Amino acid sequence: MKITFHGAARTTTGTMHWVETEHQRILLDCGLYQGRRAEAFQRNSTFPFDPKTLDAVILSHAHIDHSGNLPTLVKQGFAGDISCTTATRDLATLMLRDSARIQEQDALYLNQKTSRRGMSKIEPLYSIPDAEAALEHFVGHAYDKWFNVNHGGRAVLRDAGHILGSAIVVLELADAGRTIRLGFSGDLGRIGAPLLRDPEIVTGLDYLIIESTYGNRVHPSFEQAAAEMADIVRETAMRGGKVIIPAFAVGRTQELLHYLHRQIEARQVPDVPIFVDSPLAINATDVFRLHLECFDEETREHLLQHDDPFGFAQLRYTRTVDESRAINNVQGPAIIISANGMCEAGRILHHLKHNLEDKRNTILFVGYQAENTLGRRLIDGAKKVKVFGDEFTVRARIAMTHGFSAHADRNEMLAWVAPAKSSLKGIFVVHGEEQSAQAFAEALRALITESVPVTVPEPHQTIEL
Ligand SMILES: [Zn+2]
Repeated sequence: MKITFHGAARTTTGTMHWVETEHQRILLDCGLYQGRRAEAFQRNSTFPFDPKTLDAVILSHAHIDHSGNLPTLVKQGFAGDISCTTATRDLATLMLRDSARIQEQDALYLNQKTSRRGMSKIEPLYSIPDAEAALEHFVGHAYDKWFNVNHGGRAVLRDAGHILGSAIVVLELADAGRTIRLGFSGDLGRIGAPLLRDPEIVTGLDYLIIESTYGNRVHPSFEQAAAEMADIVRETAMRGGKVIIPAFAVGRTQELLHYLHRQIEARQVPDVPIFVDSPLAINATDVFRLHLECFDEETREHLLQHDDPFGFAQLRYTRTVDESRAINNVQGPAIIISANGMCEAGRILHHLKHNLEDKRNTILFVGYQAENTLGRRLIDGAKKVKVFGDEFTVRARIAMTHGFSAHADRNEMLAWVAPAKSSLKGIFVVHGEEQSAQAFAEALRALITESVPVTVPEPHQTIEL
């Protein structure tokens, strides 16, 4: 058996691992590579293999850096099944169409700019019909039920606790007279995260591919982060201001609502109107409601005894542009949650435009802000920023909480690997920036037997098992 690490090797984007036996070829995830525009287009549109020769895809979860290049794969001839959990299939339906819409809009915008300079037109990476064609290949499975993978192989999806439907993939494949059990962590969630179950412990593996996003970090607890958020909401409301929260539509928004609901019930935060202004977040919240099988015991219990945490009385969902604009006229304290999380695009920009210059307001960041984004500039203390080409003076308070990450930290990942260590013959560390991946590999070497190799694969490196 051979594994080739085509994506998310020494980086966190474009996850794509090729697994080959004498009987078949399987791809673990097919994520969109995100980076500088020209390089990203080149990498996403050209696969380092022929998609027609691939037998099956197994998808760990719906995040775009894991699922976002599936439409290109199908467009270029992949004809097999894309296996994932049923919740992942439902979320991917929203997210791949949304991704296609963004690709189409980007191409349109660039073509308008370049046509003025007489340059040739660019095509979007894929269109909405391409995304829909890819979705026809999706096959949903329940957690913990083995299913067959083409020629003499089987697989099972265990709960990864990272986002709704996220899975750890376990593959059992026959090759050269032996049977190999390969585990792929996907993205691992945190222990004690709200809504979702903890990552399921998986033992009996021969080899493991594991992520390392926070391989060199330890997070504050969710409770700490939630308490910080409550303090900020209270202080801002006392000043008569609004709290604007840029948040990713899938996962983060629903977690924030869960905490705000409990805090309002416990009277830890005042009873102010809460607006969720993102069509994708609204659609994703509907998918959350459909998949109660993915929630932890505590959340299901809470749902039985209290209101729906995604639909409580103070909450307003705004879908249309007019509804979104009407939020500007709301007087007095309010909480506005909108996408995208790094303030690079989306309706959040309109809310920043209307609220940045009022010193009563707070802009609260709840997630990582990448370099060269508006979110990062605000966090770094910029006094003036540009939104839609106009300059605004930052008078609102800028705040950040660190504890809401959806990824396990170093200690949580080590605790997850420990029960599996006795059977492992090799570990491959992926999905982390170089420093983080290397630091986590070191920590793994200290955890497991010396004779078991821990490798941080180079991009496109092939390893024979
Ligand atoms: Zn993820």
